[in-house]
Amino acid sequence: MIRIHSDFTGGNIRILQQNGDEYILQNDLRTTADDWFYWAFCVEGAAGETLRFVLRDNRIGHFGPAVSHDLRGWTWLGGYTGDGCFTYTFGAKEDKVYFAHSLLYHPDRFADFAAARGLSLGELCKSGKGRSVPSLSVGEGSTRIMLAARHHACESPGSFVLEGLLDSLIADPIPDTCLFVAPFVDYDGVVDGDQGKGRWPYDHNRDYAPEKPSIYPECAAIRREAEKGCHYAFDFHAPYHKNGGNDKVFIVRRNIEKESRLVRFAELFEESITPDSLPYVKENDYPTEYGWNYGTAQYAHLLTQRPENEMAFTLETCYFGDPSRPATEESLLALGRCYAAALRRYIQEQRAGLIPDMEARTVSLREVDGTNFDECRGLKRAGKRFVGQPDAVLAEGYLYRDTSRVFAINYGERVIGMVIARVDPAEGKPYSFTDFFIADPWLNRGFGSAAVDVLLELFRSLGKSDRVEIQVHETNSAAIHVYQKAGFAETGRAAWNKTFIVMKREL
Ligand SMILES: [Zn+2]
Repeated sequence: MIRIHSDFTGGNIRILQQNGDEYILQNDLRTTADDWFYWAFCVEGAAGETLRFVLRDNRIGHFGPAVSHDLRGWTWLGGYTGDGCFTYTFGAKEDKVYFAHSLLYHPDRFADFAAARGLSLGELCKSGKGRSVPSLSVGEGSTRIMLAARHHACESPGSFVLEGLLDSLIADPIPDTCLFVAPFVDYDGVVDGDQGKGRWPYDHNRDYAPEKPSIYPECAAIRREAEKGCHYAFDFHAPYHKNGGNDKVFIVRRNIEKESRLVRFAELFEESITPDSLPYVKENDYPTEYGWNYGTAQYAHLLTQRPENEMAFTLETCYFGDPSRPATEESLLALGRCYAAALRRYIQEQRAGLIPDMEARTVSLREVDGTNFDECRGLKRAGKRFVGQPDAVLAEGYLYRDTSRVFAINYGERVIGMVIARVDPAEGKPYSFTDFFIADPWLNRGFGSAAVDVLLELFRSLGKSDRVEIQVHETNSAAIHVYQKAGFAETGRAAWNKTFIVMKREL
């Protein structure tokens, strides 16, 4: 007797029709208002049979259904042609097989994960249905990191990413930090197999409106937890079903005042991606006040408003990956470990005062004087092949003081580089600049180009010449690239040393 059912953790299916060996199935919306796409079912008693399953409205991912025999290990069936159905031949002893929209993450897996690390789960609260909703606290320290997943019950990729992140942070803790984790916020939904997304009257990630109390006990408990301090908060989600941007990993940027911090985190995250991880590139991040990215009732949005909060956002991780690059348990866990590496580096930089505060990425020039002299001298430069250390630049500026000034290159209030600019050229001679550098922590982020633009603007405003001429060593390809981008063209070689290229541009 073949039985198709949803009587298991995460189960969700409606059987619409059976025609011989073919079953017409549909996801079960239950208490949610919006149709999403989540389903998961079990087939028992079909050993030796070949059955065909049709999912209404083509709710199958790029690689066919996820398949499991124990609700723990999941793999993609593969061979999916995109026609909304799949066929499965059950082996002679294959009595029980689970099929699902995506790779499911069983709450027991998380409990085992914690137990294996000698950690016991706490209780966030009792759920609406009276279940004990798990939480996890790790470590002690003055920087408190809050982590959450499954505000939308069906978004299991976020659970794998969270596990990978925790695996790394527990094995190698960031000094002076503690973690508070709510791994299954819509716990009833996760256990019962609800999609959770679009739950009526609104779902768990729309239950953090600043002006009214939460209706879900889990969200209310998280608000209370945040009162103990929340320096960082990250929420792990999955986007819409598939295709386009939904096949990517992206940060939902939702705080324009902290944009420069989000950009820095994104840069670090991109740099931290390893070959075994799902890819992440910052260009895929979702901009604020755009598309669906509005509203103030989300977890990350509420927590980022807290005065002590450095940064809070949602990470969206695709269910399936790109057709050329499937999401697997391993690549999702690896993504979480890469995320941990990025967070580790970000917190280091933040504690060292290297993350710029609030400012947009605007660069300015300030003449070196008693107020910024020490900061200029302290600029760190490992590579000094083409330009000397800050002290040498300051000394050289003194040497040329009749025609030139030494400028600090500022990003907001921070000095990030220096340049000697010939601001007072002799009659008929061009402006020039030399000893231009950006300090190590700020390299490769577009500051060089921005500083050249500001320099050109300064020359124009002085009105003493109509052109700029500079010299750059022929092997200094990074600088040559920046100058070409700024409109400089090579015009020959320096008379005093043929390895230096002369570059010019009109103002
Ligand atoms: Zn979500």
